[in-house]
Amino acid sequence: VHECPFFLPSRVLNYNTFIKTSGCVVPILHSGFLEIKREYIFPIIEKKVFESQKKDLLNLGIGDVALPLVEPAAIAFKEAIDEMQKRPIGYPASHGHFELRQKIHSLYFEKYGLDLTDIFISDGINSDLGDLQEIFSQTALFGVHDPSYPVPQDVCLMAGRSKYLHVLPTSFEMNFLPEPPDYPLDCMYLCTPNNPSGTAMTKDQLAAWVKWAIKHQAILIVDAAYSDFITQDDVPQSIYQIEGAKQVAIELRSFSKSAGFTGLRVSYSCVPSTLLGLCDQKNISFKKLWAQRMASKSNGISYPAQKAALACLTEEGLSATLKQVHHYLLMARRLKDAAHAVGLKTLGADNAPYVFIECPQGFSSWEFFDYLLDKCAIVSVPGLGFGQQGDHFIRLSGFIGEDVCQRACERLTSLACFV
Ligand code: PLP
Repeated sequence: VHECPFFLPSRVLNYNTFIKTSGCVVPILHSGFLEIKREYIFPIIEKKVFESQKKDLLNLGIGDVALPLVEPAAIAFKEAIDEMQKRPIGYPASHGHFELRQKIHSLYFEKYGLDLTDIFISDGINSDLGDLQEIFSQTALFGVHDPSYPVPQDVCLMAGRSKYLHVLPTSFEMNFLPEPPDYPLDCMYLCTPNNPSGTAMTKDQLAAWVKWAIKHQAILIVDAAYSDFITQDDVPQSIYQIEGAKQVAIELRSFSKSAGFTGLRVSYSCVPSTLLGLCDQKNISFKKLWAQRMASKSNGISYPAQKAALACLTEEGLSATLKQVHHYLLMARRLKDAAHAVGLKTLGADNAPYVFIECPQGFSSWEFFDYLLDKCAIVSVPGLGFGQQGDHFIRLSGFIGEDVCQRACERLTSLACFV
């Protein structure tokens, strides 16, 4: 031990082990990262596509936008840059530009009695999904559902929470939407509308989760990345439509998919003042800690990006955004109709631009992926990439142009019927 140049106990312990085994000291890394066992599908897809040597491929696997940034946002962005050339504009407020928070609040949250200061601007839902964890204790119990957007599960594992993580399986019969478990958790991540299934929780389903969270004093983190795509009347645009949700729910929304912001990066969280947690045996406002985290760790989101987001919330911006949303939903519905025409069972396309297709004849996700690649030169995403329960399904994405959609539908309907 006396040879060790470092005096932290964990380092000393490891120092001795390393000296014995390898004769050198290396930094100790976080083993939580190695716990991510999910197959990372995109490199495999790329390899398969490359090896197939197929020409005229149609990529229906991408969950990224196919249309450009909406015009009002592009204009506002350029104007903000001009402004920055004329006068110094420094660090933005770490909780977000006041005008943007105000507009988001008045459009989407004021009607539910939430406060303007409950809105926090961020650079993407992905960041918030991971960062919100920092507010919970190391031993807090987390829940995620399967199949779903994999980030919540990954961030739990990366944070070393594998022992405290519960994965709630869902099925086709459940529309791949989770039901509250009969045990408590501290935090449940909900993705609704859900990626990859394209399905969304109804008012009753969300109410059951709110009831469960109130009973168990749990917090719901609702990833509403596709909230702008909701068309069904019984699917709430926001969890705060549910009575009691302000006591238990955080909602995350993004400009990414509806306004073409995946390359620009603006999203927001709504963290109600009424949300409490236990800290040092005292009830503490969750929002207070989240605000503190942001103030310490973020220097804000770029000024032009926030100006662009603000432009999306003007009358002109909202109408341009809606046009893109309608386009993607239409593409997804056409794909769904084409899949039905050959006897495939599907979900989605009503409240999110994804179609989740059950693989026919007992095909696994990868087998059906290969089949579509071989017979139609169509690239899909195997459901397995979104969790174990996603096997035997593939996801097609409506984030495509008219031409790609038309050719994909022609190719799908030319397949021999599966029933
Ligand atoms: N949440 C879901 C369900 C998604 O599908 C995606 C992107 O595909 C994101 C979050 C990422 O959102 P953002 O671009 O705001 O980080």
